[in-house]
Amino acid sequence: MLLKYQLVLTVCSMLLMGVGKDASCRASQSRKVLIIGIDGCRSDALQQASTPYLDSLISTSLYTYDSWHCGITISGPSWSSIMTGTWWNKHGVKANSYANSSFNSYPYFTKRAKEIKPNLRCVQISEWEALNNFVYNDGMDAKIQTANGGDSTTAEALRQLADTNLDCLFAYYEAVDREGHSSTFNPGNAQYLTAIEYADAQVGILLNALKMRSNYASEDWLILVVTDHGGTGFVHGGNSWAERHIWFIASGNSVTPQQISASDPGTYNFLATGIFNSTGVNKNLMKQSPVHTDVAVTALHHLIYDSGIQPETYTAWKLDGKSWLTNTINVNSIAANNSFLVFPNPSHDIFTVKLLNTNSSKQKLFVHDLLGREIMQNNIPSGTSSFTVDLSNFSPGTYFLKLVNGSKTLVKKIELIE
Ligand SMILES: [Zn+2]
Repeated sequence: MLLKYQLVLTVCSMLLMGVGKDASCRASQSRKVLIIGIDGCRSDALQQASTPYLDSLISTSLYTYDSWHCGITISGPSWSSIMTGTWWNKHGVKANSYANSSFNSYPYFTKRAKEIKPNLRCVQISEWEALNNFVYNDGMDAKIQTANGGDSTTAEALRQLADTNLDCLFAYYEAVDREGHSSTFNPGNAQYLTAIEYADAQVGILLNALKMRSNYASEDWLILVVTDHGGTGFVHGGNSWAERHIWFIASGNSVTPQQISASDPGTYNFLATGIFNSTGVNKNLMKQSPVHTDVAVTALHHLIYDSGIQPETYTAWKLDGKSWLTNTINVNSIAANNSFLVFPNPSHDIFTVKLLNTNSSKQKLFVHDLLGREIMQNNIPSGTSSFTVDLSNFSPGTYFLKLVNGSKTLVKKIELIE
């Protein structure tokens, strides 16, 4: 065994030196990333649409419905920020032409991950040609062009997800944005909502396929579902609330489930005169708010976790985003101010909830089942430090315990056992 291990090491070190690729180095790591991109999905429309798969994912996610686009609300600049972890002033993309891009200096996070782990297998599937054709130095092993509409993207994603060597998949869906451009970006537009519901169904299919992976039990997937911008009327690209109000979902063992409501940090967007403005951003608020550049940093952090490198402070990379993984300062501080403990978990009947922030004002408790149905709700008097939740009358299974305090919602998964 030892000899074989040494041999593999040797081949892999050759690979590091650029000698060549070998299947024996493809032993894939357990930490993996799935990014599902839904182009042009307004936050209020997402909340308005019927999205059972995203709702179910949210119940175990760090997520926000109240985040703000801090860059240029156009697809090219936005996806470049999402995938590089830097704003347009670094990656250089200010339009869908991708003119003046600087991906050699500020590459996709997948490229950075491969600097640490050259054998990662990273695949991008996109309906939008620009993502496949205009981005370079991205570390992708394959960039697959699919037809508009989503079905072929999902079919290709299923093929990729069946590959046990896959480490990172970015699946991009364009249909919501196309519907917005053709019939308006508007939560009152039934066609726009239908497009979002279709995207939700694709998410459901991909998440199911993830769980069917032969090694799923030993894998640690971080799932990131993101949009690039909202829209107003038939367009986007400006600074309006409807174009800038966005959402993020991050699910996996490495994030603490919680809802984050963020204040608007402002934007690095361009002014009406066409001059780019970088002075209107409150960097402290940006640290407390999930923003586009966090996606790449969080994905990268998850993939290279055991290297000890903290991507957000690694000076060679000059990234702008922050990691949402629980061992990092910023997001963790948001969690610590609001978090609660549940024990025992699993339990046969009674769960004890201990509130870590007893100063908080009136809170409300909800318990939901796996299908999102509310099975219990209670007011929690202010000053309460702990209370019990008795589920002895319910069937064994997974439930979600939700604490609502004003606009903040915190969720923990609990297991009721026989
Ligand atoms: Zn877009």
